[in-house]
Amino acid sequence: MAIININGEWCDKEEAKISVYDHGLLYGDGLFEGIRIYGGKIFKLEAHLERLSEGARAIMLTLPSSLEEIGALLEEGVRRYGQDEGYIRLVVTRGTGSLGISPDSCEKATLVMIIDEIQLYPREFYEEGIKVVTAASRRLTGDIFDPRIKSLNYLNNVLAKLEAKQAGCLEAVMLNREGYVCECTGDNIFVVKKGVLLTPPSHLGMLEGITRNTMIELARTGEIPFEEKVMTRFDLYTADECFLTGSGAEVIPVVSVDGRTIGTGRPGELTQKMRELFRKRILL
Ligand code: PMP
Repeated sequence: MAIININGEWCDKEEAKISVYDHGLLYGDGLFEGIRIYGGKIFKLEAHLERLSEGARAIMLTLPSSLEEIGALLEEGVRRYGQDEGYIRLVVTRGTGSLGISPDSCEKATLVMIIDEIQLYPREFYEEGIKVVTAASRRLTGDIFDPRIKSLNYLNNVLAKLEAKQAGCLEAVMLNREGYVCECTGDNIFVVKKGVLLTPPSHLGMLEGITRNTMIELARTGEIPFEEKVMTRFDLYTADECFLTGSGAEVIPVVSVDGRTIGTGRPGELTQKMRELFRKRILL
């Protein structure tokens, strides 16, 4: 059963409601985090709280409680949820205000926590790999609105997701204005070329994924050659392997990009290895 808390109050799914004057709804003015529970424990809690806190600082949003208190609330939620595996959606909005855009009318930020199940992709795709396409919708760059802020404005990602669907795919690769590969609509992207693990640097315009950073950590400790590299679609088309990472998706192999088969058309060796290392890491 889902566990929900709104501004400190525990509520049932049917009764979990926020005001239509909430600026999260009216303006997408807010932040969120998607966090996993593995083995009854919150995975990378500190990293999620740090990202939330940095986002809040960047948009001048005062969190309604301290990071310690938010962490304790999540822990309490996980205890109530009582399952070994689950997904936490943490949402902080500017709060309830008037109809104008100014955040001045919002007295206090709204904090919502939902704990429930998540299954982003069907099981078989983890074995077989997925096909992706490049979206025409571009990722925003840092000079417009830095995608490192995990904000409630996901409309350009939603549009790219629709493009994926229209092309019969589950995910779409998003480029920045210059045409460099950034990430997917809800996942970061990695490729393998001649035994080297590559991912785009975050300054190109992307969310600095916590799963992405975990992969980088795993590559470093496992002495797997790794580089951050600026890439175009050519680098994807000619990669030996490709995979996506995210808290929801974990590590999912990609076997086709824009109709070009990647490597052998099967999930690659290093991809499998990174998946295994990740699975071991989450159960530590
Ligand atoms: N990019 C985007 C746009 C995302 O929304 C997400 C999270 N769903 C990711 C990447 C992956 O980030 P994380 O590993 O922290 O879940």
